[in-house]
Amino acid sequence: MSAEFSVVAEGLQKRYGDKQALDGLDLAVRRGTVFGLLGPNGAGKTTSVRILSTLIRMDGGHARVGGFDVAKEPRQVRRRIGLTGQNAAVDEILTARQNLMMFARLFHLDSRHARRRTDELLRQFSLDDAADKQAKTFSGGMRRRLDLASSMILAPEVMFLDEPTTGLDPRGRSEVWDAIRQLAAGGTTVLLTTHYLDEADKLSHRIAVVDHGRNLTEDTPAGLKRAIGGDRIEVVVQDAGDILAVVKLVAEVSGGSEPQIDSEELRVHAPVNDRIHAIAEVARRLQEADLDVQDIGLRRPTLDEVFLRLTGHPAAAPRSDDTQTSPSTSTSEEGATA
Ligand code: ATP
Repeated sequence: MSAEFSVVAEGLQKRYGDKQALDGLDLAVRRGTVFGLLGPNGAGKTTSVRILSTLIRMDGGHARVGGFDVAKEPRQVRRRIGLTGQNAAVDEILTARQNLMMFARLFHLDSRHARRRTDELLRQFSLDDAADKQAKTFSGGMRRRLDLASSMILAPEVMFLDEPTTGLDPRGRSEVWDAIRQLAAGGTTVLLTTHYLDEADKLSHRIAVVDHGRNLTEDTPAGLKRAIGGDRIEVVVQDAGDILAVVKLVAEVSGGSEPQIDSEELRVHAPVNDRIHAIAEVARRLQEADLDVQDIGLRRPTLDEVFLRLTGHPAAAPRSDDTQTSPSTSTSEEGATA
């Protein structure tokens, strides 16, 4: 592992009391890429970011960020990184411009450079129109963008983004996604933690799925979707009496894969390969059979489905003692503690 990788972590261990937050986590993030660390609550994402950004110490393992050892050369690491979390660190009373100027001065830029950098960042994060408004008047997405901009004053080599869109509405999320793309386009390596599959999918070059402080699998977004079945067709029936007929029909169109049934919500869904063909064909056959439905559509798998597929249990469920996991993707499943 060399200059090709901006973040390398091997066998990270971290324990809080009797809670093993990280249990041998490995990461390798190629320079100039966006890497998604995807996992449910409590998977160990924040703990990893806090270790890699030198905020807390690891109990075991090794990590290098920007070419420097996280445990032995924390000051060198700190000089090369930016970090933003779920709680924006902006000052509400100040305007966007004043916030950025304040951070620029904290980083010892002289006033001319501070002004220039502030203007650049306001433009880069599409905040020029709101530059002279107080941050307290901002939407969640604008605030998060301002927060991102303020951690970019020195254009860090590596940026850690810990669940950057949690709590935002769809518009705010998409604004922050644009800002992250800008950041990556400028050459910054980004390690992004998220529990949204679509977010990891949209932004990352590679995604590691983690749970219980361990790697479950790692792939490109396309590879991961292939492994978990890609798009799904979903039909919500009108009348509970029709559900079996719909299951049969969906199974035929989806190439024989067994549809999942949510009998409470009258929902039937199954993975499909050719999405357009599948939806057209299901609609045609429903019409032919004179079956009425509330809804029909295509959707991406959820994080829960990813976990179900990879581990045999839903994301939020505690791990059981037996390890009936997907053999092709697990990397270290022995030694499970309930
Ligand atoms: P989330 O999506 O909820 O932020 P996460 O994947 O970031 O989850 P972590 O915050 O890293 O997960 O937590 C991993 C495990 O360690 C969890 O079980 C959590 O309860 C525990 N943990 C984290 N920080 C502490 C702490 N300071 N003291 C005790 N336990 C902790």
